[in-house]
Amino acid sequence: MEKREKLYEGKAKIIHATDNPDLIIQYFKDDATAFNAEKKGSIESKGIMNNKISEVLFKYLEENGIPTHFVERLSDREMLNKKLDIVLVEVVARNIVAGSLAKRLGKDEGELLPAPIVEYYYKDDALGDPMINMDHIRILGLATDEEMAKITEYARRINGLLKKFFDKRNIDLVDFKLEFGRHNGEILLGDEICPDTCRLWDKTTGEKMDKDRFRRDMGKIEEAYAEVCKRVCGEQTSIPIF
Ligand code: UDP
Repeated sequence: MEKREKLYEGKAKIIHATDNPDLIIQYFKDDATAFNAEKKGSIESKGIMNNKISEVLFKYLEENGIPTHFVERLSDREMLNKKLDIVLVEVVARNIVAGSLAKRLGKDEGELLPAPIVEYYYKDDALGDPMINMDHIRILGLATDEEMAKITEYARRINGLLKKFFDKRNIDLVDFKLEFGRHNGEILLGDEICPDTCRLWDKTTGEKMDKDRFRRDMGKIEEAYAEVCKRVCGEQTSIPIF
């Protein structure tokens, strides 16, 4: 496998072409952004930890019938993936009220939802990723109804699987964001699944173990990511704090 030119540089990852037109390499950076990139920083070793965490979660989902873009982890910061034509809809699944949902509905963070919620956001930085519905998706031509039905079914199944996975590791899966794409006519789960894209709360203490520590200047960010990495990957990467 030969790494070729840079195709795209995002906030937390760089995408490189390879000598195989069907495959790309994701390089995981330590850069962190929040509030539509108004807040910028760096979380030491984040890229290494997110790459490892994503690998474990993609493998787990594949084993449980969810098709993903994951091929293999190549190195500390590199993952080999199937090349996707990304659907410009960010899918958020929620189990507990937090973040933008708390603001939108005027509810307290931490309230358990009676059933999971799935939401769609238009993946457009210039617009600040606004929330959209199926009518918007249709009018913008972002995906067909059939594709969105598949994506939504996957999102609900992924939520059930991840909730169970984190539960066993004494972590509440509060909410998370997913991205999907097309590959040879098939819908695959893409992007990454990690503490940048999920809200994860320690079940015993309620401590936040995700990017909210960075967004809200709570400190112990690296330690929280390391603790998630340890519980997910079963490896000691740092001194646990929770
Ligand atoms: N999220 C994400 N990328 C985004 C927006 C949200 O990964 O661009 C994740 C976020 O980490 C959380 C979930 O999606 O786990 C729901 O985020 P929310 O809508 O509450 O927005 P936020 O409060 O993060 O702005």
